[in-house]
This record gives sequence, structure tokens and C-alpha cells, in this order.
Amino acid sequence: MAIIVQKFGGTSVADASKIRRAAKRVIKAVKNGYQVVVVASARGKQTDELIADAMELNPNPPKREMDQLLSTGEQQSVSLFAMALDAMDYDAISFTGGQIRMITDGVYTNAKIKSIDAERIHKQLDNGKIVIVAGFQGIDENENITTLGRGGSDTTAVAIAAALGAEECEIYTDVDGIYTTDPRQFANAAKIKEISYDEILELASLGAGVIHNRAVGFGKKYDVKIHVRSSSEEQEGTLITHEVPQMEGVVVTGATVQEEMAKIGLVGVDNVPGNAAKIFARLANAKVIVNDIVQTEVSSEKANLSFMIGASDLNAAKKAVKEIQDEVNCEHIFVREDIAEISVVGLGMRSHYGVADTMFSALAKAKVNIDSITTSEIRISCIVSKDEAQKALEAICVAFELDKPGEERNKAS
Ligand code: ADP
Ligand code: ASP
Ligand code: MG
Repeated sequence: MAIIVQKFGGTSVADASKIRRAAKRVIKAVKNGYQVVVVASARGKQTDELIADAMELNPNPPKREMDQLLSTGEQQSVSLFAMALDAMDYDAISFTGGQIRMITDGVYTNAKIKSIDAERIHKQLDNGKIVIVAGFQGIDENENITTLGRGGSDTTAVAIAAALGAEECEIYTDVDGIYTTDPRQFANAAKIKEISYDEILELASLGAGVIHNRAVGFGKKYDVKIHVRSSSEEQEGTLITHEVPQMEGVVVTGATVQEEMAKIGLVGVDNVPGNAAKIFARLANAKVIVNDIVQTEVSSEKANLSFMIGASDLNAAKKAVKEIQDEVNCEHIFVREDIAEISVVGLGMRSHYGVADTMFSALAKAKVNIDSITTSEIRISCIVSKDEAQKALEAICVAFELDKPGEERNKAS
């Protein structure tokens, strides 16, 4: 029997009527002959509320206790979901991450999945049960509860789909698919029918919160068909697939703005071998994830170095660079928190010219100043002031016609 994994996000299980609606989706799949595994997130804004509860007691809570706390949100959802199915006369059983041996590393609040006991799930499915698994959580090798990072229930779902060899992983959410940019930030954004793993991986890593980036990574690695769709409407959503030749025809597939970030610069570091290694070893030691590193030689004696980090790593990063400042003879350190990163992503950039020109011209026309620029094969990112981010995103969406479906944009250019 074919297996399908259905993941329901927080808004899709926010109250009893939404859980019932989600349960009906599950029953539909059962009636269509599937064995169904459901992955559920915490209801509504519960994770945010639990974080606020923790902060009220301790602004710097121990990360182990944070995971212990946050995992309870998903645990409530799955038991309620199983009860809803039971009330509809369907046999369901709920599990926490630990109960299905979702083993992760020990990095609290941002753990990575190492293995899943697929046999436990298969056994329940073969007994005719609908299996409901708590998203976002696992246990480490010492049985401590861990969580996978905000939005991590998507990753639970895709990882389970991979482990079970599921036919498809459906991500049910409050939008009816993946759009060219967040429709909450640009109301005219167009829905994308199909997107490649590589593009959505970049977009998700650059702030497109519609799917967890590690879920996409799993999907690509283990060939999981991922379908992002609406939990309230029937129509098809967006399929995440491997690249097909016509995808290259679209130059820019999507745009993002990322605001939860900061830039740290070390000005006037001694220009000698080993200093960059010393700085980044210190940051690695502090478990800080670093992006977009830029080093420029100022003279034969001095170099400037800057890098981007997530806002949540700012305190750890500041402490790490201060500790190393004297050792690398750095003249001064600056920190910018008032920034945002605007990016455009598209496979077509590999074979089309003029993308950078269009992006920078759009920003110039909107009178947005660019602090720094970084690129990869399929993306261009600009750091701008946070208070100009919305204006910058709109200018870019208009310039790349992100209000039109890909096929139409293609014809126009
Ligand atoms: P869930 O709780 O179902 O996981 P999320 O809030 O995590 O839902 O993700 C859905 C939200 O992602 C949407 O409401 C939308 O505002 C946002 N989003 C960001 N970027 C995009 C995009 N490119 N396409 C669609 N939605 C996006
Ligand atoms: N409940 C968690 C969060 O809000 C995980 C998820 O929803 O995917 O981040
Ligand atoms: Mg989400």
C-alpha cells in the first residue's frame, strides 16, 4: 500500500474546527487507499507563547529546558488530532518524536535528524492505524528532548516521508502554494506551479518562511516529492521537484527579504596568514552560523573583514570577536542590526545576462542604497537598511515582473 505523509502547520490545527477539517483531509487519503502519516505543528501561535513564557522567567533560558518546553506544543496537537479521528471512527495513534526514535544530534533548539525508526511506524500502519507524529522534535542519544529550529515540523514530515519511502509529502499551510515572494509583503505575488529543490532551498534559506530549508534539503537528497498546498482550499499547490530544462527559461523565480540578521565587521585586522582562521575558529567554537564573509585588503599591513549572522546569534558572535580582537590586532569592531537582505533567486541566472543590472537599477530608481552585495550561481543578494527593505522588495518584484506567472514573464522578456 502506498504511503502519504500529510503535515499540518500551526494555523491549520489552530482550533477544534481546524483540526476536524484537517482530519477530513486525512480520511480522504485513507479512502483513496493510502496509509497515512500525519505530522502536526503546535496549535496557532503556541510556540511563540511558550517562548514568551520562558523569557518572562529567564531572558537567557537554558536551551535544554527550552526544548523540553517547546516540544509540549506539538505533543498537545497530535493527541487532539488522534482524538478527532477517533470521534470520526478512524483508528489513530499519536507519538512524540522520542516515541518513534527520531534521533537527533544534541544541538538544543537547532538539532539535526540522524535517524528514524521507520519500522515502528510501518508496524502501526500495517495494523490499520493512522499515525500522528509530533513535528519539530526528537531526542538525542541521551534521551534529552531536542527541537529542530523554528519551522522544523516541515523537516520532520519530509524526513519521515524519506524514511518510509512515501509517495508524496503534502505540506498543508495557510497559503495555497509557494509564491514568487511572501504574499504578505507583496500582495500581487504570483503562485508558482513547480519549483526546483535548488531554488526553494535558496529562497527558504534566505527568509522565505513557507517551508523549512532543511526539509527541502532532505527532499532533494532522498527524492521526496513535496507538495505545498492550502489546508482550507482544494486546488493544487506548488510541487517541489528536480530541475527540468524549461525551468531555466525563467530568469528570476522568486525574491525574499530577510530582516532577522546582523552584520559584524572587523576593521584594520593585521594582514598576516592565519588571522581569518583564528576569528572563524572562535566563532565556530561559539556555534555561530556565519554567512556572506567578505575580506578586503586595505594595504599590505591591514585587511577589513565582515560577515552576516542570524539575529539570534548576535550576542554569542559579539562576545567571540571581542575575545579575539587583540590577538588579530583589530582596530575596531562594528555591528549593524538595522539591516535587511534582499535577494532574487532563479536557475535561469546561470544562462541569462543582465540580472544584476536589473536588480541594481531597480534599487537605484527606488533610491535605496546598497550596503554590500553577494552572489551565488543562482542568486543575487543586497544588504540594505531595514527601513528601506519593503520599498526595495517592491521595486525588485516590479522590475522582475514577479506579479506574473513564470510563463508570461518569459514571453515578455
Ligand atoms: P505553517 O504554520 O503552516 O508552517 P508558516 O507560517 O510557517 O505556516 O508558513 C506559511 C507562511 O509563509 C505564509 O502565510 C506566508 O506569509 C509565508 N511565506 C513567506 N514566503 C512565502 C512564499 N514565497 N510563498 C508563500 N508563502 C510565503
Ligand atoms: N511549532 C514550531 C514553530 O512554531 C515548529 C513548526 O511550526 O514547524 O516553529
Ligand atoms: Mg512553517
